[in-house]
Parts: sequence; structure tokens; C-alpha cells
Amino acid sequence: MIRARLVFAGVLMLVLSLGGLARAETLAIVGGTLIDGSGAPPVPGSLVLVEEGVVTYAGPLEEMDIPEQAHILDATGGTVVPGLVDAHAHLTAHPDMSPRQVRRKYLLAGVTLACDLGSSMQGMARLAQDPDGGDMFCRVAFAGPVICAPGGYPGPMHGEEYSLPVQGPDEARQAVRLLHEQGATLVKLAFETGPAGEWPVLDQETARAIVDKAHGLSMLVRVHVEQYSMLVRALDAGVDIIEHLPHTPDPNQEPRLPFTGSELSLIPEYQEQLTWMASRGIAVTPTLTAASRAHWSLDGPLAAVAAFHEAEGRLAVGTDSPFKGIEPGLPLEEMELLLEAGLSPMEVIAAATRGGALACNRADLGLIRPGMAADLVVVDGDPLMDITALSRLKAVVKAGQIVTP
Ligand SMILES: [Zn+2]
Repeated sequence: MIRARLVFAGVLMLVLSLGGLARAETLAIVGGTLIDGSGAPPVPGSLVLVEEGVVTYAGPLEEMDIPEQAHILDATGGTVVPGLVDAHAHLTAHPDMSPRQVRRKYLLAGVTLACDLGSSMQGMARLAQDPDGGDMFCRVAFAGPVICAPGGYPGPMHGEEYSLPVQGPDEARQAVRLLHEQGATLVKLAFETGPAGEWPVLDQETARAIVDKAHGLSMLVRVHVEQYSMLVRALDAGVDIIEHLPHTPDPNQEPRLPFTGSELSLIPEYQEQLTWMASRGIAVTPTLTAASRAHWSLDGPLAAVAAFHEAEGRLAVGTDSPFKGIEPGLPLEEMELLLEAGLSPMEVIAAATRGGALACNRADLGLIRPGMAADLVVVDGDPLMDITALSRLKAVVKAGQIVTP
């Protein structure tokens, strides 16, 4: 019996070692500066141990032994950072790339998780086939079609297949249940009147029914908002995360914009709103990259992000790719815009890792700490000195596997 077991173990080891790093082997990432994604100070000369896809140690090298059988990944001179997250994208909306090609591109850039915030039902089904993506693709979280009022955004702008129209609270709850059954862990709403105020928007009772149902199913509710009056309504409905922030004029409401002056400073009620959001833990994905490519000024959104950040609000990095031709990949431009808004490099990295993972409803990701899934990158240099170091990848590790050379 003992011999049979040994033979079996031998066969198992052989099978495991065929794919490079055996799954049961410990991975030791040695000598890099550790940035764990929480915003905590960096740990120079660190050790990260990974077993069976999970981080088992992350801290100073001298405080832990490296297991004898460990596979060593030398990170000397580099930095170890959680896998990056694009918390707002549309993976099924690329004109000339399949969702899998998009996900491959993300993974090769060190983005181990991307969030799809608006697709067709069919597009969602494609993502739902393989949300974790194995060694080849980034993980995905997804919302499916946007729940909206009949005739509401995004239908008139992006096509009806991106909408899930509902009339009243009962239909709304059914829609949330349907998305949940398809594997969605997020609900996307749109409070969007359109440039002339002509698009219908969910009434408050229906919006609240959606939020309640979603929360009952442990889903997070994320809301597209471009006008100030719509931010006020979204917050009243009890949503979790605001996408974009107001930047376009309200067609028929005062104030038309929550900014004044040539440099667009915030009006007091908007300032208070942002402080209130921060105190309630409502997160923001400002998608400044997308705003920077549109026709409106960035001064207002940058001032809003600065105020929200000063109030200790939680931010997530999201690009809105492929809007305005934004490429899937490392969201470097978004990170640079957040630096411009006054975040420190450490805070930007936290928004692009832990902040993104939380916005994607993946509390098990975005931190390099014992018990967390081992999605991380090793980069050359120090991204706290130069954020573009994040593009100098030495290795991408996903679920404890080295997935790129
Ligand atoms: Zn979007």
C-alpha cells in the first residue's frame, strides 16, 4: 500500500512538473521591494511565498526561511506589485478583437483582472464561460447589459443589445436575478438624460428595488453618471460605485454644471456630496482617460477627484476601453491623470490594484497578503519614483503561476 502510494506520488510529480512550475511547488519571489496594494509603506528586500495559488507569506526576507524545494523568482532590483486591474472596460465591444484577444492583451500587460461594465447578453455569456481565464487570459468580472428605463441609455447611443430595460420594481428585481443567474457579480445602471434631456431614466422606486435585490445577492451596483442631477439621484438610490463623475451640462436642471470659474472649482453642494460619498464608502471610478479624449475640460473632473481623494474617498482605476479608441492594457494614462489629481504614487497603485479589485467585487484579489490569491507582477525599477516602471514587466504571476516569461 505504501509502495503504491509512492508510485502514485511519483507519477503525480512528473505530471505536475511537465507544465513548468508545478502547481504543488512553492514559488518564492525573492529580493524585490514589496508594494502590497493596501497603500502601506513598501518593504525593501522582501520575500513573497506562494503555495497552491495563494500567498502564504509576504514580508521581510530575513524573517522567513525559503522552503528548500521552492521555485525561485529573483526580483532583486525590482518591485513586486499586485496584478493590475482595469475596473471599467467593455471587453466585448472591440471592433477588431475578440474578448479573448482583449483578455490576452490585458494579461500580457500585467492586468490580471478586468471588469466588463456593459455588454450584450451574448457578450456576457462569452465572458461567463471562463471568468478566471487560466494561464492565458486575465480574470473578468462583469455586469452584463445595463439595466435602464425603456428607451433609456445606453440603447439610443450604443445599441439596444447593451440595455436591459425594466418597467417598475418587479421587473427590475427579475432583471437582477437573471443577471445573477448568468454569473454577473455586478449590476450596471445608467442615470443618463442625454445631451438634450430626452432619454428616460429609472424612477427612484425602481432604482432602489434594483439596489436592494442586488445587495441581497451580494452584487455591487455601479452607476454611469455624467450630469450632476443624475449623481444626486444615483446616490439617493443607494448605489455602491459611481462611474465617470459629472462632467457634461445638465440640459434642463440647475446647476447645469457643478463647477464654476475659469479653472472649474467645485460648487459647495458638490463638495459636500463628495465628502458624504467618501464617508459612506461609496467608491468612484473616474475614467479620466475617457474624459481626456472627449470635448469637455478635464479641470472639473480633476478637481472633483482631488476633493474626493482629500476626503479619503475610495478610488478605482478604470479606462472605459475601447471608448475613443482606448487600448486594452496597462492603464498607465489613467494612473498618470490620478497623479495629476493629487494622489501619491502609492495611492495610485492602491487604486489600480486593491481599489480595482474591490470595485470588481473581488475581495480576494488586489493585495499581496497571506490568504489572498497570488496575482502579482514583478517590474523593473521603482514605480513610486516613476510610475511607468509598471510597464517594465519582469514576470506576471496569476493564481501562483508564472504566466509570462
Ligand atoms: Zn463604460
